[in-house]
Amino acid sequence: MSERWLLRGAEVITCDPDSADMPRADVLIENGVIAAMGPGLRADDCRVLELDGKILMPGFIDTHRHTWQTPLRALGGDWTVMDYLAAVRVKLAPAFRPSDIYAANLAGALEALDAGITTLVDYSHCIESPEHADSALEALEHARIRALFSYGYAEGARASPAFPTHESRLQDARRLRTTRLASDDRLVRMGIALTEMQIPWESSRAEIRSARELNVPITAHCSAWPVSGPSEIQQMATEGLLGPDVLFVHCTWSSEEDLKRIADSGGAIAVTPETELQMGMGFPVTGRALRSRVRTTLGCDVVSSNGGDLFTAMRLALQVERGLANARGGMPRALDLKAERLLQMVTRDAAEAIGLGRVTGSLRPGKDADLIVLAADALNMTPLNRPRDAVVMQAHAGNVESVMVRGRLVKHRGVLLDVDLPAVRRKVVETRNAVLERVGGLSMLLSDRAELDKHWDTGGGATTDDA
Ligand SMILES: [Zn+2]
Repeated sequence: MSERWLLRGAEVITCDPDSADMPRADVLIENGVIAAMGPGLRADDCRVLELDGKILMPGFIDTHRHTWQTPLRALGGDWTVMDYLAAVRVKLAPAFRPSDIYAANLAGALEALDAGITTLVDYSHCIESPEHADSALEALEHARIRALFSYGYAEGARASPAFPTHESRLQDARRLRTTRLASDDRLVRMGIALTEMQIPWESSRAEIRSARELNVPITAHCSAWPVSGPSEIQQMATEGLLGPDVLFVHCTWSSEEDLKRIADSGGAIAVTPETELQMGMGFPVTGRALRSRVRTTLGCDVVSSNGGDLFTAMRLALQVERGLANARGGMPRALDLKAERLLQMVTRDAAEAIGLGRVTGSLRPGKDADLIVLAADALNMTPLNRPRDAVVMQAHAGNVESVMVRGRLVKHRGVLLDVDLPAVRRKVVETRNAVLERVGGLSMLLSDRAELDKHWDTGGGATTDDA
């Protein structure tokens, strides 16, 4: 952390409201913090990175990912949300042991770093014992990513001997908050991920209150399908439980009134365009949320179905929104949603949404050096005409050359540093094999689909023909 770095000669995109982008500038980093930015900086005694032909910008923030599902990669490429719930939440989740969670979270967090994601909200909802929680947390720490470890209160499909009551789960979160996650200054901080609020309301209320007692951010799946009765947001509003510390996920079926309630409370939304579009959750709420002035962010959600990088999520969110607007209004005279707006969603707005606005999410002196270097000299970025638009419209994860988290270089010249990647890959493959074997193989993944209604009110959603 005592290292000094001079990053020299980059095209700098700051994503900061008070600092303009700079076509050729330097960034000085001291003790993990941005000390100065500008053209022609002079500094002695520091390591220098020459970044001619590169873009330097804040690292991305993924506000919604179930990192534990990394070993299940692409199994659900053709799944609806009901297929997903039956296969992953009912069938596969109980088959994960603590060492599996570790292998999954390590590989998943490294995958995120590799793709330029320096901060991750890990919605960790496969915690069936204190050891599961400890393993999930340890892997995030070992990956050296900045993360909100959002302790998931959701009960699995089978009773857990380690957690005989709902309260015992709340108690275990308290254990972590008073021990390993007591500090909010470390790279990995504590959060709470609520159980879907279709459980008895007293339980949801207890979860929300416990998060507030622990003084940690809350995140919650919300309105991903139509349900009967008042919405989760309405219920929370009625009891005065909304707040700027709540990050709702999906909200595809949220009413305009609910979006206004979130906006008025200072809360935020994580849109996960790829899962929402695939799984039949309705259209991403991006445009409606932005028009309602809700702080709107993006997440990858599940690599068990889709991609794990935010370049894809940005482009998909943008073009779906444009498609919806064009379908409503016909041939447009202008596009309302600008490409560069998406950058704000994956940087500064995402940081604000999880209480890290002062620490990360933009490049400015005083903030931690969470940043990425993109190959603006790659063929798919050349010539570099409008740098922000090029990042949103053309760049991909393969363009991420270097990644720094709090001033520590974790990826350089395309290679993740200080990590035994063959071992990480081997472990995640072994985990995939073990978990599938425990459920009786691939052919059994959807065998409990008919039982789903016992676990979730899924609004009587239709089934797929080929499920
Ligand atoms: Zn999710």
